[in-house]
Amino acid sequence: MNAPFVSPIQDLLDDLHARLIEQRAGEVATYIPELGKADPEWFGLAVATLDGTVYEAGDSRVPFTIQSVSKPFVYALALQDRGLPDVLKQVGVEPTGDAFNAVRLEPYTGRPYNPMVNAGAIVTSTLVGGDTYEERRERILSGLSAFAGRELVVDHKVMDSEAATGDRNRALAYLMHGAGTLTCDVEESLRLYFEQCAALVTTTDLAVMTATLAGGGINPLTGETVVSVEAAAHALTVMATCGTYDYAGEWLVRAGLPAKSGVSGGLIAALPSQLGLGLFSPRLDPRGNSVRGVAACEELSQRFGLHLMRPA
Ligand code: GLU
Repeated sequence: MNAPFVSPIQDLLDDLHARLIEQRAGEVATYIPELGKADPEWFGLAVATLDGTVYEAGDSRVPFTIQSVSKPFVYALALQDRGLPDVLKQVGVEPTGDAFNAVRLEPYTGRPYNPMVNAGAIVTSTLVGGDTYEERRERILSGLSAFAGRELVVDHKVMDSEAATGDRNRALAYLMHGAGTLTCDVEESLRLYFEQCAALVTTTDLAVMTATLAGGGINPLTGETVVSVEAAAHALTVMATCGTYDYAGEWLVRAGLPAKSGVSGGLIAALPSQLGLGLFSPRLDPRGNSVRGVAACEELSQRFGLHLMRPA
């Protein structure tokens, strides 16, 4: 009898899980106190292809707060609702090489450099469709849910924990309000951003959300058009140049894929027109990227020849 067929993708995910689980370098983020309660051993991997197939390994169904991995999705929603010219008036698209929470704005425009750093993401949250805080909040949650193909909820403990300790983001928001690039109420804007970051997802959700961007805005599981092809392409472009904190340049050289990481240990990477990758493991390297996530993603890219700049 023939051995049952195991997809090479599933095979590699299982193999990566078995090998990289031994990797225990890095630290769980604690500057948001609730995040410090994460189990450092969690390790989930998932791949979603545009035909709607999902491959998973390890803790792929453990919920965690999305944190900065929300940024490209909310940026895509803002582009969808306001269009690129209007969004560009308030948020730039230049890489910084700075840390995610750097207190620095563009010198002449007062814009945050890009939507993947905290400053840019705080303004971006206020640019989604809606005239009130409540309407924008609903737009962000239902938009993130449409990317995932299921209804997401917010972890209010993590949100409150960040609201109580987020002085640096508060400083950034006041700076941008003074510069005229954050035009909404400062405390409401911060609340919206903290809420977005506290949406609960699984590694599998991340893979499906990323496959939605890779597929030009169409969710491969539900068939729903979540954002336009242009909005998805612009979000992927900014992920490529600014998605992995001050590692973005080296990341692009090594993995060659648009990506975004977050402080809870999530990491996504997209192969346009093909698939979305989701990784999750809470131990972070000094730049704030998941140690196992980066290792797994770089290996997946190399083994399957996914580097976008390399001829097939
Ligand atoms: N909510 C976090 C913050 O603003 C997100 C940071 C991140 O994941 O990079 O600090």
